[in-house]
Amino acid sequence: MIIALLLVGAAIVISLILLVLSGQYDKIVGSSPFAEKADNGIDEWEREEMDGIDDGRPPLDVQLLTPNKYSRPQIALKEINGIVIHYTANPGATAQGNHDYFEKLKDTGEAFASSHFVIGLEGEIIQCIPSTEISYASNDRNVDTLSIECCHPDESGKFNDATYQSLVELTAWLCRHFEISPDNIIRHYDVTGKICPKYFVEHEDEWENFLNEVREAI
Ligand SMILES: [Zn+2]
Repeated sequence: MIIALLLVGAAIVISLILLVLSGQYDKIVGSSPFAEKADNGIDEWEREEMDGIDDGRPPLDVQLLTPNKYSRPQIALKEINGIVIHYTANPGATAQGNHDYFEKLKDTGEAFASSHFVIGLEGEIIQCIPSTEISYASNDRNVDTLSIECCHPDESGKFNDATYQSLVELTAWLCRHFEISPDNIIRHYDVTGKICPKYFVEHEDEWENFLNEVREAI
């Protein structure tokens, strides 16, 4: 009897070991939140934050868009060679409003548009697309860049202090995290000639100041 029990026990232990080795354990037991999150496209740095790694990343409000062909096509971003800065061209609009516009494109289908990040008028940062996927923001450079859209209070396109500070912090952190040279921070204007971000196109000196602040913050 005791020998029989020992044999059953040993069989259970061996089965569990085989399950873990075959990678089935997480799927059956569901005890690995990280694996599930990764499947949902949550970024690596969100998991790092859970693990308590602090590398100076500004707070991100991660609200990933529902996958759809108009704003989140889930095309792999295979390499990140730069960061493209934009303005929303929508005075007074909020980061949440811009995020929700991208989200609704799955129903309206009126445009192909999105951005990895949107920075709001309070300096809040909403992440819409994981860094492992392309966004529809920067034309020919969608394939190898991250995009940041910035809200602005008025027609001048100038960012307020809160938005600007978050932009400096986020851009510097992305440069550190993905080992991007600040020489590869560009404006949408540098890709297509579009007047975007308006204030930094019309004030070249302010653009240079911004780049210098990012370099200092890296
Ligand atoms: Zn733009």
